[in-house]
Amino acid sequence: MSRKPFIAGNWKLNNTIAEAEELIQGLLPRVGAVEDVDVVVAPSFLSLSAVVDSARGSAVQVYAQNMHEKDSGAFTGEVSAPMLAEIDVQGVILGHSERRQYFGETDRALQLKVPRALEAGLIPILCVGETEEEREQGDTERRLRHQVQEGLEKVPVDQLSTVVVAYEPIWAIGTGLTATPEQAQETCGFVRALVQGFDKEAGNAVRVLYGGSLKPDNAAEILGQPDIDGALVGGASLDAESFGAIVKAAQ
Ligand code: PEP
Repeated sequence: MSRKPFIAGNWKLNNTIAEAEELIQGLLPRVGAVEDVDVVVAPSFLSLSAVVDSARGSAVQVYAQNMHEKDSGAFTGEVSAPMLAEIDVQGVILGHSERRQYFGETDRALQLKVPRALEAGLIPILCVGETEEEREQGDTERRLRHQVQEGLEKVPVDQLSTVVVAYEPIWAIGTGLTATPEQAQETCGFVRALVQGFDKEAGNAVRVLYGGSLKPDNAAEILGQPDIDGALVGGASLDAESFGAIVKAAQ
């Protein structure tokens, strides 16, 4: 089964609109014409329109970092799937560990967000991952099983392989600690098996990403693992040269 590599840069709470413009302008000459890898950037809500406009006509896709599961209503401060689709955003990161940790994102809400994103024509990147304590206690698989099963439970079977799942060990995010290629492969393989548990073919086709302190110098080894189809990149995605080098490593 050949799966198209997928590299996504999560810009998090970084970059004013002017800085986001500068970053996308630095990225376009490096990755704007790449066709054998899905290249995604996820700026803050405020910069989305500007980055969508700059990336128009290039191969770079623009995703949001979150969305609400409802289309509209009394949910102050939130943004919905149709609002993102209206400005030509193509996908959305859901369930990032920082949203789970700091903003009370729950598996229950994700169970609604993932199918809602798909209905609106957005590609969801569902993030899952264990804490350091869970890994030490041998609880990684239980945690991932819960997150993947809850997150995908209401996704129609024929759309399961459209979802992208990012395995991000929380202890490796922004810490400089990276899972070894063997650890990352084993756990991404486990995540794939969980999707195969819903539907064998979908599990074979679904893209599973690794995320956690990926850099140009460790990218090739991690991305070379059989069950790792790409990466969700935080820190290194804020530098055009580094992100370009990671995309190259995925080609
Ligand atoms: C992330 O936040 O998804 C991430 C992987 O961050 P970093 O690459 O900085 O560890």
